[in-house]
Amino acid sequence: MSFKLIPLPFDSSALGPAISAETLSYHYDKHHKAYVDKTNAAIEGTMHMGKPLEEIIAAARGSEEGLFNNAAQSWNHAFYWHSLSPDGGEPSKELIAKIDEAFGSLDGLKEQLKTRGAGHFGSGWIWLAEKDGRLSIKETHDGDTLADGDFNPLLTIDVWEHAYYLDHQNKRPAYLDAVIDGKLNWIFASENLSRGSIWTYPE
Ligand code: MN
Repeated sequence: MSFKLIPLPFDSSALGPAISAETLSYHYDKHHKAYVDKTNAAIEGTMHMGKPLEEIIAAARGSEEGLFNNAAQSWNHAFYWHSLSPDGGEPSKELIAKIDEAFGSLDGLKEQLKTRGAGHFGSGWIWLAEKDGRLSIKETHDGDTLADGDFNPLLTIDVWEHAYYLDHQNKRPAYLDAVIDGKLNWIFASENLSRGSIWTYPE
């Protein structure tokens, strides 16, 4: 048994021009695939075989750096593809109420996501997350993840250069504007909030 590269939940040309099919041909077909392949190779014949990806991430954290990074990146990218959508959809009433409480408005949240994303030094991930009924923005560096923590991630945005360089070159804020204003999957975020527990990597 091994982890599969989950199918993209949209057509590879559906997110343009924010994220082009060419970017996805590298980001999904090469980068994400490599993380999944390396995770599968690293767990082969070990005690991790057959465990859910979230358990492997938790077990490898702080002890098996190579496995941790590849397993966490496999999870982060799958969660990121689900965090994107060609038309975005609308947040649920429950999510809107939480957003208003924490950020004043949906526009207020979007502005803070852009600011935190642009300000994040180097590679990493920007997350909208919930804990104890309250929303906040979290940042993780490099391959680090919220998959095994005590925050429930609702959405994530990849801010590694490979996520935007072909489409926006060094202009990370242009990528963030395009994604945050039009391509975030508010239906996925609403589902993650209403479930109240961390999304799990599909079998
Ligand atoms: Mn990436």
